[in-house]
Amino acid sequence: MFELAALSAIPEATSDRAEELFQQHQRQIFRQTDQLFARLMLFQWVACIIIALLVSPRTWDGGASQIHIHVWSAILIGGAISLFPVWMTRVWPGTVATRHVIAVAQMLMSALLIALTGGRIETHFHVFGSLVILSFYRDWRVLIPATVVVALDHFLRGIYLPYSVYGVLSASPWRSIEHAGWVVFEDIFLIISCFRSIREMRFIANRTAALESSDQRSRQLFDDAPIGMAVVALDNQKFKQINGRFAEMVGYSEQELVGRTPLEITHPDDLAESERLVQAMLRGTERCCVEKRYLRKDGGILWATRTACIIRDKDGNPRDFLIMVEDITERKRAEAALRDAKVEADRANHAKSEFLSRMSHELRTPLNAILGFGQLLERQNPTAQQRARVDHIMSAGRHLLNLINEVLDISRIEAGHLQLSVEPVAVTEVLEEALDLMRPLAADRAMQLHVDAQMEEDLYVLTDRQRLKQVLLNLLTNGVKYTAIGGRVAVSVQRSGPTTTRIVVNDNGPGIAPEKLARLFTPFDRLDVEQSGVEGTGLGLALCQRLIHAMAGDIGVKSTVGKGSAFWIELPAVGSPLKALPRNRMRATDDPSTAGAGKILYIEDNLSNLTLVEQMLAEQPGIELLTAMRGGLGLDMARQHSPDLILLDLHLPDLRGHEVLARLRQEKGTRDIPVIVISADATAGQIKRLLAAGARSYLTKPLDIGEFFRVIDETLRSRQPEAAVA
Ligand code: ADP
Repeated sequence: MFELAALSAIPEATSDRAEELFQQHQRQIFRQTDQLFARLMLFQWVACIIIALLVSPRTWDGGASQIHIHVWSAILIGGAISLFPVWMTRVWPGTVATRHVIAVAQMLMSALLIALTGGRIETHFHVFGSLVILSFYRDWRVLIPATVVVALDHFLRGIYLPYSVYGVLSASPWRSIEHAGWVVFEDIFLIISCFRSIREMRFIANRTAALESSDQRSRQLFDDAPIGMAVVALDNQKFKQINGRFAEMVGYSEQELVGRTPLEITHPDDLAESERLVQAMLRGTERCCVEKRYLRKDGGILWATRTACIIRDKDGNPRDFLIMVEDITERKRAEAALRDAKVEADRANHAKSEFLSRMSHELRTPLNAILGFGQLLERQNPTAQQRARVDHIMSAGRHLLNLINEVLDISRIEAGHLQLSVEPVAVTEVLEEALDLMRPLAADRAMQLHVDAQMEEDLYVLTDRQRLKQVLLNLLTNGVKYTAIGGRVAVSVQRSGPTTTRIVVNDNGPGIAPEKLARLFTPFDRLDVEQSGVEGTGLGLALCQRLIHAMAGDIGVKSTVGKGSAFWIELPAVGSPLKALPRNRMRATDDPSTAGAGKILYIEDNLSNLTLVEQMLAEQPGIELLTAMRGGLGLDMARQHSPDLILLDLHLPDLRGHEVLARLRQEKGTRDIPVIVISADATAGQIKRLLAAGARSYLTKPLDIGEFFRVIDETLRSRQPEAAVA
């Protein structure tokens, strides 16, 4: 069944080839069997002569003797029977005629042998043996003349010379029929065997043709593959075969590469890795892929993705590697160009930010003079005309200052230099401060500033307080600026997700056309309102977006032309830090007599942080807490109250914490007051810088309450002996 199915699946070209292979095989068998018979014939001739000489060398007539007729028969008839077919095997080997002549001759040889042995029954076995040897041709047809010759010989000699065939003087004709019957009986099995052999030969031919065709297809696929392919011997790791594409890639011909190893054409920098992968494959890794460089014959470099896998023999033992190589030189070149371009772009960007930051700094100095003297002029009772001119100077100066500040901020963010103090901030506090600042402007334009009455009080977000205020001010200013006089700006805050809080600034202004929305956050793009008379730089929203993104938040807008806009910002929500306070507040020590006592000044702009520290210290006996929400005010209070300890936040609205610390250290009256910095910035460099600048300790937000009390306690107690001495 399987064979038939296999045969029916063979395509025409393959079946032609199978027929050809079958014929070849058959011809080979015919020729080989011809040769076998040629040798057998000669051997049998000699054997006949020897038998004749042994059995009946001479014939006696009284006292005289002469050579027996059998000897002459053996020599002459045996020669006649043998020599002709032997000659035919030389002249027409493998032909039908030769085969049939041999069959007849072989049976005649049997007849001669039987006659020479005087019809010995044992010699009749030569007939059966001969038929078997004739079946070596695997051609049942040769058995027909052989059988006919045997039957005729037995019949004729049985009648006329029974002694020569049966060794008796008279024989019944049935004896010849019986002998012929046994011959036919054997023929039946030999014919069956011939048919079986032919079937097997055909099966082998079909399998060989199918294998040849599959090999041919594989070779063709290998040769025509669009990727480079090579077969490398596992034992000596030398190329055995390469395809055209691989030759083209590396610039060597197949003859040049066969006998060399892939390592010989590998870039020196990739040798170690290639060697390692070869070893891994020898240890049993089935497949590996690597990006490597080959050295081309012309000296160039070929970047390639090389995949190698093991080829196994039919017993499953690893025999060779199959290497598949894809040329990625172009991609690598493009990647390198991109990398270079990025480095160049980063460099240019850095240079731009650097330039902007310097320029802004340089511009600020003369601007300081312009605005300062402008203000002086304002105070000197100018005439109406002069006042109008001074107003122009001041408004242009402020515009310029705004522009410079925003450019500076944007360039700082882009250069990654912006320092943010991200900490839990109560949204309502910041919003209130921003709204307070906005009220005068809104009043000028007869606008209502509306705050959502449903707003939750303790919504906290992770942000930099000052920067959030800056963003809110920008959005509120825009709302007020772009909405017609008498309009309305409303603010709402809501939880927008499990981890986010959203602040929305709504106005009923002109709205923004959908096609302009994509340009909203582009620096200097004012969306064509330049002629409207509304002042602006086109930098505010660009800065807001960068700030909000830097604080891990998001910003967006929903706007309808003629109805108004809703600008929203979303920031990571956090729980109230005040709620995190333990019910029985932790103290440095349970013994009030040993606890540090004294006056502490906390300079911090974040109200919730202030409240937190206030609550923490409320139950600490002997501690008096003073607070300041601006750096300048903090300095004044330090001079005035000479506290025992100053807690200092680094991000203050007016002065930077570093500056406050530096001034405290400079002034005689405050030089010795220990300062503990409390900041959200936990970078090692920052901590080191502030400790070097004179801070006694550095605590990071969120505060570890135990640590907070320990440091405060330690500092205050270290001050107590001094106070006693004083
Ligand atoms: P500008 O300094 O011009 O106000 P912004 O970056 O703050 O710059 O805003 C960019 C542009 O977006 C503005 O020029 C204006 O055209 C538009 N825009 C901003 N806010 C609003 C708003 N609330 N209503 C209508 N248009 C606005």
